[in-house]
Amino acid sequence: MDSMTFILFGATGDLAKRKIFPALYNLFLDKKLPSSFSIVGTGRSNLSDDAFQIYVEESVKTFSRRFSQGESKIKEFLKTVRYHKMDVTNSDGYDQLLHAIQEGEAELNIPENRLFYLSVAPEFVDVIASNINSGGLGSTKGWKRLIIEKPFGHDLQSAQVLNQKLTETFNEEEIYRIDHYLGKPMIQNLEALASANPILQALWNHHYVANVQITASETVGVEERAHYYDQSGAIRDMFQNHMLQMLMMTAMQLPKTLNIAKTRQQKIKIMKSLRPLQKEFIHSNVIRGQYEAGKIQNRSVIGYKDEPDINAASVNDTFIAVRVWIDHELWKGVPFYLRTGKRMSKKCTRIVIEFKHPLKDVYTDEEVIPNLLVVEISPNEGISLQLNSKNPLNDNKIEPIFINFSTNQKEVPEAYELLLFDALQGDSTFFAHWEEVELSWKWVQPILEVFNDERFPLHFYPAGTMGPAASNHLLEDDGFKWW
Ligand code: NAD
Repeated sequence: MDSMTFILFGATGDLAKRKIFPALYNLFLDKKLPSSFSIVGTGRSNLSDDAFQIYVEESVKTFSRRFSQGESKIKEFLKTVRYHKMDVTNSDGYDQLLHAIQEGEAELNIPENRLFYLSVAPEFVDVIASNINSGGLGSTKGWKRLIIEKPFGHDLQSAQVLNQKLTETFNEEEIYRIDHYLGKPMIQNLEALASANPILQALWNHHYVANVQITASETVGVEERAHYYDQSGAIRDMFQNHMLQMLMMTAMQLPKTLNIAKTRQQKIKIMKSLRPLQKEFIHSNVIRGQYEAGKIQNRSVIGYKDEPDINAASVNDTFIAVRVWIDHELWKGVPFYLRTGKRMSKKCTRIVIEFKHPLKDVYTDEEVIPNLLVVEISPNEGISLQLNSKNPLNDNKIEPIFINFSTNQKEVPEAYELLLFDALQGDSTFFAHWEEVELSWKWVQPILEVFNDERFPLHFYPAGTMGPAASNHLLEDDGFKWW
C-alpha cells in the first residue's frame, strides 16, 4: 500500500471520535496501514498535538472493539497523529495546512499521496473541496482522494450542484462517497452468497422468488439531530441512500468476473430498471408514517411532535415503506418491499427473500410456511434458511426449521474499518458512484414532491411498533406479510 497523508476535516467531531479513529487504530493493529502514514486532524478547537493525541487515545479506548488487545500499541499509533486548527471557511488557512502536510511528508519521507476525509457538516463540503484546489493541496505529485459522508445533497438538484462543484477539483475515480451500509460485512457478502453457492444462484430470480423484503428499523427517536431530521425525514436520511443501495446489492445480476467496473454496471442497471413511480402511483405504493408516544422495552417515550426542537405541526416522515418493481429480466413480477423507520419495536437491518410456495396443494391440511432466506445485517450478523420438515415429536407434522449461521461480532471488522481500508488501497467498489446517487435521487424526487403536499396521508404509529398498519396492507394486497 502506498505511503500517504490522511487529512481529516472535522477531527474533533462525533463521527471521527466514534468511528474513524477507532477504525484507523484497528487497521493499525492489523498492520493494514502503510509503513509511512501520517494523520493530520483539523477542527475549530484550539488543541496542541499532545492534547489532540490524548483526545484520540480516549476515542480509541472508548470505541475500539480491540483496545484491550493492544494497550501498548496505542503510543506507537499516536505518533502518526498531528493536529491543525483552522476554520474551513477561511481560504487563508489552507496555506498553513499545506505547509503542515508538507512538513510531515518531508519528515516521514511520504510521497505526495493525500487522502482528504471530510467529516464535516454538508454545507462545508464544496467549500473545502474548492479550497483544497485553490490552496494547492490538491496539486500533488502523487495521487489524491476525497472521502465524503452522507448526506449527498438534499434533493436531485442540490446533489447535482454539489457533484458539479466537487468535480472541479476531483474526478469521479478520486471521490469516495461513504454509504456505511455498503461497508457492513453481510452486505459485502451478498455477492458471494449468490455467486459462490450454485443452489442459491439457481434460485436468485423471478422463477423462484416470490418477494424480497428489506427492513432497517431503529428504536431510537430523533436524538440530537432534530433540526436536520425534521428537514430530511426517513426518505432522505435512510431511503434514498442506504435502502436503495441495499436494494441494488440484493437485486444486481452478478457479473461473470467480479470487478469494480462490472459490479457498478450491474448496480446501475438495477437503478435504471426500477419502475419510476409516477405521482398517481405513489399513493398506492408508498406509506409515510410518523411515530406517536408509546413504549419501547417497557420505557415510555414521547411522540415525534413533542420531541425538543420539532415543530408541533410537523408532517415529517419518521417511517417510510415502499413497494418497488424492477423491470429487469431477473425480477419480472417480483415485488420488493422496503421499510425503514425510527422508534420501532426493535433495532434490526435484514433482508428476507421469500421463495415461491408451490406446496400449498400438496399439504392441504397443514400450514406450510414459505422457504425464507434471511440475511441479518445489523446489529446481529448472520444468515438463516427456513425450511419445512417433519417433526417426529409432534405427530410428524410439517414444521419450519431454521438453519442458522451467525458471526462472532467482537471479531468482525466494522463497516468503517472495511471501507477505510478499501479507500486507502484505492478500491471504490463499496462506495456510491455518482451515477448511482443521481439515479437514486431521480427515482426518489417525485416522492419528495408528493410529500410536500400536505394532503398526502401521514399514518401515525405508536412508538414501539413496526410502523403503521398501512404498511402491512401494502403486502397483504399481494397476499404476503412482513417477516
Ligand atoms: P460534528 O458536528 O460532531 O462535528 C463537526 C466537525 O466539524 C467538528 O470537528 C468541528 O470542529 C468541525 N467544524 C465545524 N465547523 C467548522 C469550521 N468552520 N471550520 C473547521 N472545522 C469546523 O459532526 P459529525 O456528527 O461528526 O458529522 C460529520 C459528518 O458525518 C456530517 O456530514 C454527518 O452528516 C456525517 N455523518 C455522521 C454520522 C454520525 O454518526 N455522527 C453518521 C453518518 C454520517
